[in-house]
Amino acid sequence: MKIALLALQGDFAEHEAVFRALGAETLQLRQSKDLQKSFDAVILPGGESTVQGKLLRELGMFESLRKMIEEGLPVMATCAGVILLARQILEDPTVHLGTLNAAVRRNAYGRQLGSFFIKGTFAGIEDVPMSFIRAPQIEFCAPGCEILAEHEGRITALRQGNQLAMTFHPELCSDHRVAEYFLSEIVRKS
Ligand code: GLN
Repeated sequence: MKIALLALQGDFAEHEAVFRALGAETLQLRQSKDLQKSFDAVILPGGESTVQGKLLRELGMFESLRKMIEEGLPVMATCAGVILLARQILEDPTVHLGTLNAAVRRNAYGRQLGSFFIKGTFAGIEDVPMSFIRAPQIEFCAPGCEILAEHEGRITALRQGNQLAMTFHPELCSDHRVAEYFLSEIVRKS
């Protein structure tokens, strides 16, 4: 199994370490020709969505990646990655890939005090460590989406088909159960 990481900006190296620890092969996507290689899933890491969206377009990777996800390539997005996937960014006319039928609000917990850590339930898996770092909030998702985690009445993880999106960072902890869920429930079944 080969897991590709969007490696333009952000914490892709942490995700890569998790998937390697789980026995997957990995591949970094840095330029448009990397998208022609063969891989089974793609990870959109946390970081800065405006920078990632700009680089995706400038490097000519945007349309191919969007099409691959739309056609069913399994994708796991964390934090900024969710903003890239979302169909709508509230109070912002920008739409990046737009494949996830959800609306998000950037930096919704506040810029300075917006980072916190909790343990929560994800897809029925209990006590999952969840780091939120200047995280967006998912304000709305369409009926076809399955809500996998919530915190204080807000959706923090959801799945729409082969797209898995979460506003926290599971890759920053030694607990790899979220990545295992992605591999077993989405990648291996796709
Ligand atoms: N605040 C960032 C953004 O808007 C996301 C932060 C993160 O990925 N940890 O893109």
